[in-house]
Amino acid sequence: MKQGKLIIFSAPSGAGKTTIVKHLLKKFPSLSFSISATTRESRGDEQNEKDYYFISKEAFLHKVAHQEFVEFEEVYNGTFYGTLRSEIERIWNNDQHVIFDIDVEGGLRLKRKYEEHALAIFVQPPSLEVLKERLTGRGTDSKEKLAERFIKAEKELNYASKFDVILKNFDLDTACAKAEKLVGDFIES
Ligand code: 5GP
Repeated sequence: MKQGKLIIFSAPSGAGKTTIVKHLLKKFPSLSFSISATTRESRGDEQNEKDYYFISKEAFLHKVAHQEFVEFEEVYNGTFYGTLRSEIERIWNNDQHVIFDIDVEGGLRLKRKYEEHALAIFVQPPSLEVLKERLTGRGTDSKEKLAERFIKAEKELNYASKFDVILKNFDLDTACAKAEKLVGDFIES
């Protein structure tokens, strides 16, 4: 199997990492998005096999038992997310680098596994208050789910210093431009 690079974007939900990752995918044809498997329901216009592999909890646990994940996590109570080994191999075999939108613990796990082949970027929101406003504004989650996301976000903000780079997302255009430079340099290194 060929080995490409891994570019990991992690942050609390609502910090803007998905928007930055989408921007980078448009800029760099050599990048391909790692589609995670998840047991959560699809939201809004999300598509199976494009945004996520939406699978049942039984199917997910079967894959866990067969060691098909390079990392996985119960990100929220009862809801699993994971990166399939086959997904990374598919992208590398296509001569591309993998870009991840993944939670903080999963991101750090991938960094520990792939070391210098991986660049781990933590996207930092302006404040917890702004994060809460953004999450509430999405209007896609129930009150209970939002409360769970807030608690997790607060915890995740403390992990920033463990990443290779902290990318401040106070202004989206500036953050996207900085991300382009970081990723461009890493791909060429
Ligand atoms: P959401 O439900 O908002 O799409 O994602 C919830 C959180 O799970 C986000 O922080 C997202 O980045 C993270 N996530 C998505 N895919 C994976 C994965 O494969 N592994 C881990 N550990 N986290 C993931």
